[in-house]
Amino acid sequence: MTPEEFRQAAHRLVDWIADYRAHTDRFPVMAQTAPGQVRAQLPAVPPSDPEPFEAMMGDLERIVLPGLSHWQHPRFFGYFPSNGLLGSVLGDFASTGLGVLGLSWQSSPALTEVEEVATDWVRQMVGLSPAWSGVIQDTASTSTLVALLCARERATDFGSTRGGLAAEKSPLVVYTSAHSHSSVSKAALLAGYGRDNLRLVDHDAAYAMRPEALEAAIRRDLEEGRKPCAVAATVGTTTSTALDPLEAIAAIAARCKIWMHVDAALAGSAMILPECRSMWQGVEGADSLVLNVHKWLGVAFDCSLYYVRSPEHLVRVMSSNPSYLQTAADAEVKNLRDWGLPLGRRFRALKLWFAIRSEGVAGLQARLRRDLANARWLAGEISKTPGWRLLAPVPLQTLCIRHEPEGLSEADLDRHTLAWANRINRGGQAYLTPAILDDRWMVRISIGALPTEREHVEALWRLLRQEAEKADE
Ligand SMILES: *Cc1c(COP(=O)(O)O)cnc(C)c1O
Repeated sequence: MTPEEFRQAAHRLVDWIADYRAHTDRFPVMAQTAPGQVRAQLPAVPPSDPEPFEAMMGDLERIVLPGLSHWQHPRFFGYFPSNGLLGSVLGDFASTGLGVLGLSWQSSPALTEVEEVATDWVRQMVGLSPAWSGVIQDTASTSTLVALLCARERATDFGSTRGGLAAEKSPLVVYTSAHSHSSVSKAALLAGYGRDNLRLVDHDAAYAMRPEALEAAIRRDLEEGRKPCAVAATVGTTTSTALDPLEAIAAIAARCKIWMHVDAALAGSAMILPECRSMWQGVEGADSLVLNVHKWLGVAFDCSLYYVRSPEHLVRVMSSNPSYLQTAADAEVKNLRDWGLPLGRRFRALKLWFAIRSEGVAGLQARLRRDLANARWLAGEISKTPGWRLLAPVPLQTLCIRHEPEGLSEADLDRHTLAWANRINRGGQAYLTPAILDDRWMVRISIGALPTEREHVEALWRLLRQEAEKADE
């Protein structure tokens, strides 16, 4: 494809995307696709000769589109909002079009420096002190793995430069709550701590970590000869957006000299609202923090911000410095390869920078306030309607609900919950996520897709009552 052919094709593609975004509500929210259905429509072998752009556009429309669940649909209430703001999409497009890589500062100076500026903008937007330095990672899973690697190296005085964990006299222990994201336990296992050294600390009735339980678990490990190493606290847990009490956890982490990592992947976005910041009171006491701006805030996936208070420590753990990457500028610049796992880095900062500039902080704040108000409205309706129950507090935009007709056994209630949730998802009118809370099925409603207005939440509430009050097959 020549630049001239690209110009023609790209205009068409941009029109196609704009049309899609203007009318996402034309499609069933959840893909009505059977396993293998998409693959069966595609040739198993690659074309030997070039195909016209028309052919790709045709298949995009005819085969790919019907095989998607539509995250930008106004009645998408599944998982979490992953809002690809269109301004951000343009930044991503520019990044791909430029085709540059960050290997060192010198390999694309603006890639590094726009990232420094954009991550510092977000730091200010969420009210963090200037003591924090940010870098972009792909996902929270990576950020949390980096955090637990840094914790391990601090606790062992850089044991990886000697015999590694295998040479440690006592096992290192990581603490988190049972409600933390699966990426925390995955990171702990991958960083070599071992399942036996991962403590799932008890939580309270609101699903937040109990600091007394954390302290007791640390004491027990010390008595039994193990070495407490890190605690991963969550602001906005995946199931119910519970808020671990950071201030109390930070005090324990400081006293016991363990690393504190804060997973605010979803809820961090809400901190652009000053009225939400009490939810992470104590965050300044942490060593590291992850915030996915590719969720509710609206930067096109993927863009996970990782903040640390000691970049020197991060760089010492992550640095690699082969001769072919050394440059004369190294003493004066940041080489972001030393701030995470990959060497080659995309110009992700462009989509973040474009998103903030095209919406403005006030625009971003207004949208998040709209979503919080919509969640409060639905929570109010559910709690005052007989037969319906809210199962957890609603500090943000996620609701955990159940329809509880009288006289059902626990097993029948589980069957009923899954039956109505699946009816809604299969019907294509809305997308919800059934999940388990306290060993029972319930339905999670996550509000905050870009086009979701009050009318869509009202339509959802009508749909919930209509489908849940029907007889199950
Ligand atoms: C979404 C989420 C994650 C995982 O995010 P990825 O970026 O997909 O790895 C981790 N923790 C919390 C609290 C989340 O909401």
